[in-house]
Amino acid sequence: MTIALSASDVLVVVDMQYDFLPGGALGVDGGDEIVPLINRLAAQFSNVVLTQDWHPADHVSFASQHSGKAAFDTIDLEYGTQVLWPDHCVWGTRGAELCQDLDIPHAQTIVRKGYNRRVDSYSGFQEADRRTRTGLAGYLRERGLESVYVVGLATDFCVGWTARDARAEGFNTIHIEDASRGINTNGSLAQAIADMDAAGVTRIGSSQILG
Ligand SMILES: [Zn+2]
Repeated sequence: MTIALSASDVLVVVDMQYDFLPGGALGVDGGDEIVPLINRLAAQFSNVVLTQDWHPADHVSFASQHSGKAAFDTIDLEYGTQVLWPDHCVWGTRGAELCQDLDIPHAQTIVRKGYNRRVDSYSGFQEADRRTRTGLAGYLRERGLESVYVVGLATDFCVGWTARDARAEGFNTIHIEDASRGINTNGSLAQAIADMDAAGVTRIGSSQILG
């Protein structure tokens, strides 16, 4: 059955940036393959929001900032366990730019996240300390948007956390599965899908919107 979208629906396109595409610093397999699909989906929505991972060069989530640590190791920070990443999405670099093949001129706002040096932020709603807010929930509420459809990169981190936080904020939340791709480190992809299910996030395929 095809879903009839309404003016209270919003598509949140997560982190479609060069560093998360194949060849990027933290390239996600198949990340480039979903760009045309995201463009087709976005054309169906009157409301679209983009998120952009946006770090200072000495960000705490970078393995390069922790002696003796390698990418995909974990460390314990004040706010919990942090996966360490290759340097990525450093503000002002090409890797941090949104992919130019995205064709979403009607996107209404871009939410940047991860700009605080000491705190990572997978979610488009709040940072990893689970206290610092990005303002996205207030923005969506103020605009009367009720159902949040989530696509982008990567399923097991920024997409999953964004979807769970949207649900926690009381939004009807839908993950369009084939319009996102995962990193899958240490079983993270299966875990993310289980966590989204447990949070009450609905899973659909893009054909349920595109027909
Ligand atoms: Zn990041």
